[in-house]
Amino acid sequence: MRIGVLALQGDFALHGQALARAGGASRGRSTGEGRPPVDVESVEVRKPADLADLDGLIIPGGESTTLLRLMAEWDFVPAIEKFHAAGKPIFGTCAGLIVLARDVENPRQFSLGLIDLSVERNAYGRQRESFEARGEARLDGRPTAIEMVFIRAPRIRRLGASVETLARHGDDPVLARQGDVLVATFHPELTDDPAVHRYFCEIVRRARAR
Ligand code: GLN
Repeated sequence: MRIGVLALQGDFALHGQALARAGGASRGRSTGEGRPPVDVESVEVRKPADLADLDGLIIPGGESTTLLRLMAEWDFVPAIEKFHAAGKPIFGTCAGLIVLARDVENPRQFSLGLIDLSVERNAYGRQRESFEARGEARLDGRPTAIEMVFIRAPRIRRLGASVETLARHGDDPVLARQGDVLVATFHPELTDDPAVHRYFCEIVRRARAR
């Protein structure tokens, strides 16, 4: 499968590396069971035409206002809407989540509205601009230990009824999914742990098989 990483701004290169780790065979740290390698190629997406022939897309973290400006400049908004309408999975981390949300606060700004949630930008305050935490996600019904790195992170303030929470930090949902759209308020690409990228690859594999 071919997964694109939107390469306009932010830490897109690290997602390519995370997908390579996700593709590798693994022992499954928490379960001990072996997993076969996943055949995944990552592609940097710089213009809408690059989306052709991709099976999934990652929108990385960065600064959502800058990302939105560049997306508008390159005409990515209709292209990503079309990609989504074609049933291709999208994974947004941090600024990528903000861009995909239904509503954005602090301040209000345009967003694609591809997942039914409201998000507040930079919601952890200055003293906790970045922090790391360990948590547990439910990925395909299995509890999976995950490492989470939060950087000027957004906070999900409202979740629509059809959005599933896959992980929390305290009371806050931090990993959520609605159909083919997966979002994280943290940065899974900044750890060596490929669990969340593997899970996205699995969503893409199933979408391809439909
Ligand atoms: N604070 C950024 C924003 O509001 C997001 C931070 C991130 O992507 N790490 O867009």
